[in-house]
Amino acid sequence: LKNKTVKAINGVTIPQLGFGVYKITKEGEFETVISEAIRIGYRHFDTAKIYGNEDVLGREIQKSKIPREEFFITSKVWNTDHGYKATLKAFEQTMNKLKVDYLDMYLIHFASPNYLETWRAMEELYSRGKVKVIGVANFEIQHLEELRKHSKILPMINQIETHPEFPQNELHEYLKEHQILHEAWGPLGQGNKALLEHPVLQKIALAHQITVAQVILRWHIERGIIIIPKSSNLKRMKENSQIFDFELTSDDIEKINQLNTGKRYSINPTGYIINP
Ligand code: NAD
Repeated sequence: LKNKTVKAINGVTIPQLGFGVYKITKEGEFETVISEAIRIGYRHFDTAKIYGNEDVLGREIQKSKIPREEFFITSKVWNTDHGYKATLKAFEQTMNKLKVDYLDMYLIHFASPNYLETWRAMEELYSRGKVKVIGVANFEIQHLEELRKHSKILPMINQIETHPEFPQNELHEYLKEHQILHEAWGPLGQGNKALLEHPVLQKIALAHQITVAQVILRWHIERGIIIIPKSSNLKRMKENSQIFDFELTSDDIEKINQLNTGKRYSINPTGYIINP
């Protein structure tokens, strides 16, 4: 698998294309999907405590016999584990499940009411060398401004819903200004037909002899965004990885930029929810 990398503000290198593992839930399916993903060449995996699959992911990574350092593993602090002590404890549990002794990236999953306390624990884990990159997910400018006022270290990345219908232009500019990386969840609009069958995207795909999914993923890559598309279908897993052998034209990009409708697919985009 070809890939590009981006650098966090502290110099840590992140593979720009990763693999998201949310909702791969069918009995016995997860092991196959992960081992296939590793075989195709994916090394960057995005999980979270709430996905309930950290243990299986950890096991498949061990089974691959590929050195730990070749992987880039992300997990997230869930809403019920906020606060300094609870976060440190949740981190230990996550490490045990993943069977690793450091994490490449650890994120606060949502901005809970006491995320400032949680962030202290993230800073602590970073200074102890337990996590290479610390960051947040689903944070808006107001939350990041609070952190800017009250913390020693700024988040190095923000993982947010991003796709052509919801490109996050304002937040994207803010993140760039503060040297915070932009990572997209739902990079394919969660597989929504309105997006994946959009005539403008179909036309671009046809011109390059590629698929609409590849057009969208490449558009993210050219914006400098880290992407973690999810698929449990081998053909699509391969397809999603083959996005480094072509480039979109500036005209293509301009057309895709015009697809912004403000439509987001998350039910509760910034909300602090216990059970999603
Ligand atoms: P996605 O945009 O990656 O869409 C996935 C869906 O798109 C698949 O289920 C499939 O139906 C379809 N699809 C995938 N490849 C395709 C292809 N080549 N052609 C046609 N259809 C295709 O959405 P997602 O899974 O929600 O997001 C990706 C990852 O982001 C998740 O797995 C998870 O790791 C992460 N995530 C994080 C948060 C958060 O709050 N931080 C929220 C949601 C997801």
